[in-house]
Amino acid sequence: MSDLTADAVTTEHPGAGNPAAPGGGRTVASAVPPSLVDRLAAGVTAAGEPDLVETVAPLTGERLAGLPQSTPADVEVAFQLARRAQPAWAALPVRRRAAVLLRFHDLLLKRQDEVLDLIQAETGKARLHAFEEVMAVAMAARHYGRAAHAYLRDKRRGGALPVLTHTVEARRPKGVIGHISPWNYPLELSVGDALPAFVAGNAVVNKPDTQTALTALWARELLVEAGLPADLWQIVIGDGPVIGPAVVEHADYVSFTGSTRTGRDVARRAAERLVGASLELGGKNAMLVLSDADLDAAAAGAVRACFSSAGQLCISIERLLVHRSVADAFLERFAARTRALRLGGGLAYGADMGSLVSVRQLETTTRHVEEAVKAGATVLAGGRARPDLGPFFHEPTILDGVTPDMTVCAEETFGPVVSVYRFDTDDEAVAAANSTPYGLNSSVWTRDLRRGRAVAARLRTGTVNVNEAYAAAYGSIASPMGGMGDSGLGRRHGAEGILRFTEAQTVATQRLLPIAPSFGLDDKQFAGLMTGGLRALKALRFR
Ligand code: NAD
Repeated sequence: MSDLTADAVTTEHPGAGNPAAPGGGRTVASAVPPSLVDRLAAGVTAAGEPDLVETVAPLTGERLAGLPQSTPADVEVAFQLARRAQPAWAALPVRRRAAVLLRFHDLLLKRQDEVLDLIQAETGKARLHAFEEVMAVAMAARHYGRAAHAYLRDKRRGGALPVLTHTVEARRPKGVIGHISPWNYPLELSVGDALPAFVAGNAVVNKPDTQTALTALWARELLVEAGLPADLWQIVIGDGPVIGPAVVEHADYVSFTGSTRTGRDVARRAAERLVGASLELGGKNAMLVLSDADLDAAAAGAVRACFSSAGQLCISIERLLVHRSVADAFLERFAARTRALRLGGGLAYGADMGSLVSVRQLETTTRHVEEAVKAGATVLAGGRARPDLGPFFHEPTILDGVTPDMTVCAEETFGPVVSVYRFDTDDEAVAAANSTPYGLNSSVWTRDLRRGRAVAARLRTGTVNVNEAYAAAYGSIASPMGGMGDSGLGRRHGAEGILRFTEAQTVATQRLLPIAPSFGLDDKQFAGLMTGGLRALKALRFR
């Protein structure tokens, strides 16, 4: 039985299914008029009279846009255009390319309201969660705008023979990156991931999810305004299984974010062509509340961890592991905070959680919850869809008593649902957290920071947040972010996040003497001389 009743859900915006209420009369239709859709749609690479594909605004269920569909032939054209534009861009000094990112940073912060409307219109998420995307992209633009030169400059390396071999490690752009992105963070996962590719001297052919293509097209327009040559970023739209493989087919490197199932297919196709790929995939992330945790802070953190973007966040927490001694006190706080969340669908700040993106996400969420409840799980908060608020709304939901036979136990829900488990020792918690093929993100709560970091070292996830939900690690742009195991290959952010878009090239120049018998030495004398030389290099601690 749900104890999060219609009354208990604070619908700050009465009739939140109607986006006019809280946004000062602003509706999705007025925020995203046909003129804007037409302007943005002109940025899609699609020839002739393309078929239109319709998208729906999740907040209301109304038609949002008709967007041109690219064909595999259009994808080929997109790569040709990008390939033609790339050499001149790569020939610019890194600082000139980086300046585009820094200008984009400023434009984005100035014009954020435009894209916040688009993100909300296309995903249905709360404005605060849309703003997290603006923050993440601004951080990436600043970081790579400022640090690209250091990442990309030629590095002097020890040569084969000291003094005689002058060696430099250089970074060359891959060429044209095939970039496939999902719908859940449409700004961050389209332009945020493309920025390091551009500053490294590449062109990008991007296939965003059709549902959220307007956001990607808006970001492209803004980046072009900041100085990016227009042909350098091509956007193609269409059915994933149809044009996704075409993108992989032509790419010099593939950057993919999406489900583990699709990621395996992308990896197979990239492997066949011997091009590299980074894969940012799914998760079943755990949060550990240790016995000494600050329970109020942990409860507030758990709300963010589980229900940001209505749980449609790859690093979202779906398994909550709580020390038995504090479980009751923690759950009381967590459930109270969850019940107090304000669900809403206005194009304005104020709601704590928005809608799910589609009927598919709603169905998965509902199925996971209903199946678990039927098999004996208890609902501590939430538990129901909320069609009264909008077609795809679902209450933030806490399940207790989940057992391994229930789908929700191990499968990614990608919705606002978390299951609670109790543990007695840190060892037990670490083993439970690691008992999944995924390995994306985790969160550890404790007052003893050394203990927190010791537990973190034993967790098999690409990021671990101590006393934070996910934003601390994700927002540390100078440090890599990505998944272990079934959660992916490669990393975004940090050095790896930009160097993946480059080829390493070693340029070694030999001076004075060849590395071969010379000056009348026979082979044996050369071998003897080199043997002495190798011993000397080790004794002199050459690396
Ligand atoms: P998805 O795999 O269905 O789609 C992702 C993208 O791939 C879309 O653009 C889609 O059109 C395209 N696609 C579909 N079939 C394809 C194919 N055969 N070849 C090439 N491209 C194809 O994923 P989704 O449901 O849109 O996104 C949700 C998933 O993404 C979740 O599992 C989530 O955890 C994951 N995700 C991971 C991260 C991360 O950083 N690790 C970030 C966000 C989302």
